[in-house]
Parts: sequence; C-alpha cells; structure tokens
Amino acid sequence: MSEQQYIIYEEPAEKVARIVIDRPEARNAQNAELLYQLNTAFDRAALDDNIRVIILAANGPHFSAGHDLRQTIEELGAALERNDPVGTWRDLSEGGAAAIYSVETEHFLGLSERWRNIPKPSIAQVQGKCIAGGLLLAWPCDLIIAAEDAEFQDNTLAMGIPGVEYFAHPWELGCREGKERLFTGAPIGAADALRLGMVNHVVPLDQLETKTLELAKAIASKPAFALKLAKQSVNQSQDAAGRSVVMQSAFASHQLAHSQNLQVHGSVTDPEGISSRVVKDKKARK
Ligand code: ZN
Repeated sequence: MSEQQYIIYEEPAEKVARIVIDRPEARNAQNAELLYQLNTAFDRAALDDNIRVIILAANGPHFSAGHDLRQTIEELGAALERNDPVGTWRDLSEGGAAAIYSVETEHFLGLSERWRNIPKPSIAQVQGKCIAGGLLLAWPCDLIIAAEDAEFQDNTLAMGIPGVEYFAHPWELGCREGKERLFTGAPIGAADALRLGMVNHVVPLDQLETKTLELAKAIASKPAFALKLAKQSVNQSQDAAGRSVVMQSAFASHQLAHSQNLQVHGSVTDPEGISSRVVKDKKARK
C-alpha cells in the first residue's frame, strides 16, 4: 500500500474542517489512494459532532488536473481491493467492460455521490485548473468559491468519451451551455462560471482562503441539524427532478464509450484526444 499522504486535514476555525488535497507536483491528479484518503477525511469531518462545515481545498497553483491517467484499470481494481470500498460492485476477475464498470462505479461515481450526500454543508475552494475528474471533486460540494484564475473544463469528448463519470452538467451549467461545453471542451472561466450559477463567488486569488473561511464560519454559526435538513431538501429537489437516474443513465453511456474505444483503439479512451491534451499541457507549462 502506498504510504504517501495526499490529504491534509485541518480545523482552521471552530466547527470548520478544511480538507486539503496535497499533490501539487502532479497538479493534484487523482489516483485511487488519494481518493480513498479524501474519503476518509470526509468521513472524519462528517462524523465529528464538533464540525458543521467542510471546506475542500487544494495546494499548489491548480485545484486538480483530473484523474491520474497513468493509473490503469487493473491498478484501480487492486486499490479497490486493498481499501474500504464504498460500494459493492466488484466484477474484477472478468476483466473487460465488467472490470471497468466496477472500478468506475466505485471511484468516479460512488465516491463523488457519497460526498454530495454527506449531511453537512461543504464548500469547494477552487484556484487554477479544475479539469475533467477535477469536476468530480468540486461539483459534489454544496458551494463553490472560485479564484479569478479558476478554470473548469470537461475535455473528455476529444478522447471519445461523452462527459465525465459524474454527469452533473445539466444541473451545473444548464442544458444549452452544458451541451456547448461538452461538444467543444472549452474551459469555463471564473466569470462565466459565476454567470451560469456554477460557482457562488469569484474572489482574487490572494483572498480565496480567507473569503472561503469567512463563509464557512458564517454557515457554521447556524444550527447543525437545520443545516443538514436544508441541504438534504435542496439535494432531494434535484433527485425528484430525476438527477440521480439521469446520472446513472449517462454513466452507462460513458461505459459504452469506453467499450467502443477499447474495441476500436485498444484503450478506454481515444489516444488522439489524450495526446492532444498532453501537448496542450506541455504548451501551458512553457
Ligand atoms: Zn471513465
């Protein structure tokens, strides 16, 4: 098991937990160990009676570059077996689509959905890039505070995938904007994200931490049980409108696309899309 710690847990104010993703050397790309450590931190905050609000932050210039694409389905499956999974899909020995379905159900849908439903208000504190799998961390949070340099992007379509596994686009962006961003893969800057209602506030980067903490403290001063009930009611309004069913159906389409890519390209994504992403990343570093 990896001994590396990817997560820092802090209590920066009374009744406030701050969970910090700490893998800046990889632009906070998510491998399975990072995701399980994050889940453990969320559980700690959720089960601590002294905590009322949870902040999710990330160290370094970028919130998250998404999934760690170097980690294979087999490695994700092995991680599923050595950690405490949150779900019960485990068709690993069959390989093929069954293994991919099991791994992604656990890591890229189950965990995010679980964090969405933690009965305590959560705030994502986002700076820099939040790409593809990065959305699986930010979107499940109840509120999002973005720095002026924040950029949100689902660029999976270029890789032959119809959107990230946690398919919240229609709720986060609205249908027309959601479609355009999916079709083009164009990033959403902080100002546009605010206009679309995808983030609550945009603040200068050097004020991101203090403004987020201010909001967390204001919320944490309210009665704990009422906060939980209010969150649950809003979440249920989305679910009553079909959110969870649509997300499950979109997840099935996502799996179909992985199978198609496997049959045509021999990998779960279209390699052309990956290489264009890598080239762009290299350019961005210059
Ligand atoms: Zn996938």
